[in-house]
Amino acid sequence: MRHWKEIPLFKDVTEEEWNDWRWQWGNRIEDVEVLAQVAGLSEEAVEGVKLALSRVRMAITPYYASLIEYGNQSCPIRLQAVPRAQEATVLPWEAFDPLAEDEDSPVPGITHRYPDRVLFLVTEQCSMYCRHCTRRRVVGVTDRVASTEKIDMGIEYVKSNKQIRDVLISGGDPLTLSDDRIEYVVSRLREIPHVEIIRIGSRAPVVMPQRITKELASMLAKYHPVYLNTHFNHPREVTPESARACAILADAGIPLGNQSVLLRGINNCPRVMKELVHGLLKIRVRPYYIYQCDLTWGLEHFRTTVAEGLEIMEYLRGHTTGLAVPTYVIDAPGGGGKIPIAPNYLVSFGSNTVVVRNYEGVISAYREPEYDLSDNRDEDGKCKLCGGDHKDAVGVAGLIGGKQVSLAPRDTERFKRRRVHGQEGLDEDASRDK
Ligand code: SF4
Repeated sequence: MRHWKEIPLFKDVTEEEWNDWRWQWGNRIEDVEVLAQVAGLSEEAVEGVKLALSRVRMAITPYYASLIEYGNQSCPIRLQAVPRAQEATVLPWEAFDPLAEDEDSPVPGITHRYPDRVLFLVTEQCSMYCRHCTRRRVVGVTDRVASTEKIDMGIEYVKSNKQIRDVLISGGDPLTLSDDRIEYVVSRLREIPHVEIIRIGSRAPVVMPQRITKELASMLAKYHPVYLNTHFNHPREVTPESARACAILADAGIPLGNQSVLLRGINNCPRVMKELVHGLLKIRVRPYYIYQCDLTWGLEHFRTTVAEGLEIMEYLRGHTTGLAVPTYVIDAPGGGGKIPIAPNYLVSFGSNTVVVRNYEGVISAYREPEYDLSDNRDEDGKCKLCGGDHKDAVGVAGLIGGKQVSLAPRDTERFKRRRVHGQEGLDEDASRDK
């Protein structure tokens, strides 16, 4: 990492300017010639940038650009920030909106996928446009924040759906907005009685740590519980500046989590990932997720195999504290949501015995207690612990709770035949209440 004064373009920048997030925002690198001066681009790389920019724009904060190793075309910071020609290649299995966020959007800016929580997109702008961004269909097209009218529609939606207890404010990067604008959103959400927690998704601590000021943190602290999830992908992003930003947030009582994306040539290595999760804990950030890279258009060059993700998890679990071990997930194409993937630690089952293995290969038998599971139920079948009926669960939990005997797709030939023969009622095999 170079001190910015060593970069000719920034040599006259004062300490005060460099540490002012508005200066960082106003001086983002958006021009290939300027980028070439700061990062050292080969001729081929310059052509690659130009080609990629015909699809998705570029912006890099001076701070994040200063982390780029000059002339090293494989620098993990460079690969996240500098467009490459491969971005212009779109493969048949890639999608514009691979997670179907727009389809699960009841009002503009809200994605309501899970029962008790929503994603609330309050801006389409970011300080740095990550080359692997899954939301690149909207993010960065323009530097645009949601209008008050649009934000109010989102807030009204949350207000009128009482099952929503958790709102994730994201974008774009919500911390590119002014403190006043952020407070407008957070304070109005906090007025809604059924909103228990507010989460913010922001990459500012990584790409523009100057944005994290004491004023911002103390404003957010008025609306606790507020959580913040950020996005470190490589140990070289853990710098004194990012550590300072995280300390300000943590000192204000804001729990910090991290969501990394598994990226080829950047962090698809167990040792690099281990160094990252250890570095995060040192700056009080809890590793939360490792995402398999989504099937977004133009990102094939970033994607890794799932086997590599599993190898990383095998390398972490048991080898280091559980606090450092994130959950590895595939965000299922088509809107299936986050699906955890892990090495298999369950070796076998016998009657009252479960056989498990640990990270060293030790295989052990766990003897289960001998008791009647129905002891947990009263005469009406209700749970004696919570007083509820577990049959109200949906999905696989519903199968376990006894609500249904099976879950089945409805468009198979078999179900079509049933409909043709007027036996539609039998469809209910798939979902009938017991
Ligand atoms: S900060 Fe997040 S939303 Fe913004 S470009 Fe990066 S990945 Fe996309």
